Amino acid sequence: MVDLLNELWFLPRELVSDGYDAALARLAEVAPMTIHEVPSGTPVWTWKVPEKWSMDAAYLETLDGKRLLDAAEHPLHVVSYSLPFEGVVSRAELFQHLHTHPRLPDAVPFVFKYYQRDWGLCCSQELKDSLTDEQYRVVIQTRFEPGALKIGEIVISGEREECFVLAAHLCHPAQANDDLTGVLVGLDVARALLAGPKPRHTIRVLFFPETIGSVAYLSRQEDLIPHMRGGLFLEMLGNDAPLALQQSFQPHSQSDRALVSAFRGLAPDGYVGPYRTIIDNDERQFNAPGVRVPMLSMSRVVNPHLPESRFAPYPEYHSSHDTPAIVTQERLEAARDAALALVQAFDSNRYVVNQFKGEVFASGHGIWIDYRVNPEGHRNLFQIMERCDGERTVADIAMELELPYTAVFDIVSQFAEKALVTFSDRPQPTAPRRG
Ligand SMILES: [Zn+2]
Repeated sequence: MVDLLNELWFLPRELVSDGYDAALARLAEVAPMTIHEVPSGTPVWTWKVPEKWSMDAAYLETLDGKRLLDAAEHPLHVVSYSLPFEGVVSRAELFQHLHTHPRLPDAVPFVFKYYQRDWGLCCSQELKDSLTDEQYRVVIQTRFEPGALKIGEIVISGEREECFVLAAHLCHPAQANDDLTGVLVGLDVARALLAGPKPRHTIRVLFFPETIGSVAYLSRQEDLIPHMRGGLFLEMLGNDAPLALQQSFQPHSQSDRALVSAFRGLAPDGYVGPYRTIIDNDERQFNAPGVRVPMLSMSRVVNPHLPESRFAPYPEYHSSHDTPAIVTQERLEAARDAALALVQAFDSNRYVVNQFKGEVFASGHGIWIDYRVNPEGHRNLFQIMERCDGERTVADIAMELELPYTAVFDIVSQFAEKALVTFSDRPQPTAPRRG
């Protein structure tokens, strides 16, 4: 993952651009992928697909020709989707178009004006503070032209059409952690799933430009939306912070229950938070009205309840300091393993239907756990057993008992081997109806 990160991070991956297309084409060499194209100007629900944007030159000079900053050296020096502009401007006018980072005085910020139509350059606060001339020369040669927004989709066919969606955004010029790390983790999860046994659900792994890409995908695949049963957005997964799981807009969904219970115990220092309390991203489009896919998100965003959260989502966010230097292969692998475990929990989660009545004669069925040796295991066994009633899923039981998903799954799998329970996609209450 780190090799691909080093290869792709510096590309100017704008929403619709040659840099973005090159990155997506490279990913398609690693895993079998369908690339959907949506032409510029296409209405997608209440949005419209933007034009392709290219930057030929962008720099700032003193009037005697000393170059102060140059986008040829770093793509962040020009505002993404900046209008072209050439001329001599006063320092006051320049400063209205020259952006700096709010927290990092030595970093160039990532600034975008996709829909505002303005020109702009970016530099460090330190450089800006050194600008004392009355006038400067600005050169911004950019082009807007018809192109196509591109979405990469890897499909891992399951036994059924009902699907789980993994997604990450591939845009952002010269940014490593946000969100190329999410893309690379998603790609690795896809490869692992393709190599493994066929899942029950179809798994769709999507890479697109932020926001407009999810809207474009969903609006062009409306027939699929009713089949989407859950999802996980992957973002910012390589930086030095614990894993964080953000719930969906429907926190009681089976998608939430399976992922939240599976997350328990995966990352000892990890934390879980409600929808929109950790980080906002493309999961919003999936959770939105008319779509309502319970999509959670996993990140390494700094815990908002800790003092370091003044650096939220992480210190180098949206700046020239977001480079492969803040990412490690080890953290990417831990994120990949966690994402895989969450997908597998979602995929195996079903209603547990008791084929027994009364409490099972555990020792007679070889499943008894000696309370003198393992009191907790003994208690869990019986607490899980009494919840196997056709009305609860594995995830429901795990949430009620505050146990990790796998702890419950392992026990009910043992019951299933002894034909004490069966699994069902729908509730099958076994209590007699009364009254
Ligand atoms: Zn971002």
